[in-house]
Amino acid sequence: MRHYIIPIFIPELACPNRCIYCNQRYISGQINQPEKEEIIEKINTNLSTFKPPYKAELAFFGGSFTGIEPHKQIEYLEIIQPYIKRGEIESIRISTRPDYINESILQTLKAYNVRTIELGAQSLCQDVLDYAQRGHRVEDVENASKLIIDSGFDLGLQMMIGLPKDSIEKSILSAEKIVSLGAKSTRIYPTLVIENTELANLYRKGDYIPLELDDAVIWAANIYKIFYNNNVRILRVGLHPSESLISKTELLAGAFHVSFRELVLTEIWKQELNQIPKDKTKQLIITTHPKSKNHAIGYCSSNKNYLQTQFKHVFYQEDSSLKDLEFNYHLSN
Ligand code: SF4
Repeated sequence: MRHYIIPIFIPELACPNRCIYCNQRYISGQINQPEKEEIIEKINTNLSTFKPPYKAELAFFGGSFTGIEPHKQIEYLEIIQPYIKRGEIESIRISTRPDYINESILQTLKAYNVRTIELGAQSLCQDVLDYAQRGHRVEDVENASKLIIDSGFDLGLQMMIGLPKDSIEKSILSAEKIVSLGAKSTRIYPTLVIENTELANLYRKGDYIPLELDDAVIWAANIYKIFYNNNVRILRVGLHPSESLISKTELLAGAFHVSFRELVLTEIWKQELNQIPKDKTKQLIITTHPKSKNHAIGYCSSNKNYLQTQFKHVFYQEDSSLKDLEFNYHLSN
């Protein structure tokens, strides 16, 4: 069965926070919250393209959903209810801040068929959160996560890598904490420097150096494996919370690549395949799941090209019974 997402962008127009990487305040004058008719049109257009049998989820993304005025939240949630009653949409997903969650907010979300709540945790290290001026504490992430799970929702925790004060060790710690808090899904965003942000000022003064692309790929590969090994679904690797708003002129610096996820999976496969004992007199046959074959070959065939320098010949074949990161290999003369 196909799983479709209908994305509805709801900017939080008056976010009172000052996260140093975010240009939401700058852009807030230039965008509006969508009207009911626009949302209905978007849903209907999406539904008309879905091929049955399918499961559809509506995702409110953008700012912090539970930070918008309560009557507006309800207005938005009410639009979706007839679709849920008719079975056209199965569930709703929202994203918000850890400190915008409490029992009464959760009761409302429950009453309107919200199933998944994603929190922007960004880091589970207090010094990283403080420097980024997130305005919440690690305990807020822990408490909100517990409340969300205890209330029967699916929890998603998003994280950023390469914020000021972050390190690969701290990002691994954050990922491990996300696993232990019971997240079912996650997103990994390398920090990008966007125009009209405090981070842009720091960058221009030389007080912040973003991760190089190669380093961001290695950090993300380490984190990806932690989530993969603990069955946390990785919904996104790459880009930034305000991704839909980034234009080339707004992006100043940072580990941005249109195929960032592919680069990360290429790195993971490079590390896995490197464990095969090298022998230039033998030919190597690698077997992977069909979906993983391209990643095992690598972005621009980088893994295959490297292996071809270490073996007489290299061949890839497929086996659907293998898991995503599983492989078999065979060496012959
Ligand atoms: S990242 Fe979210 S909470 Fe922080 S300033 Fe931007 S919109 Fe507000």
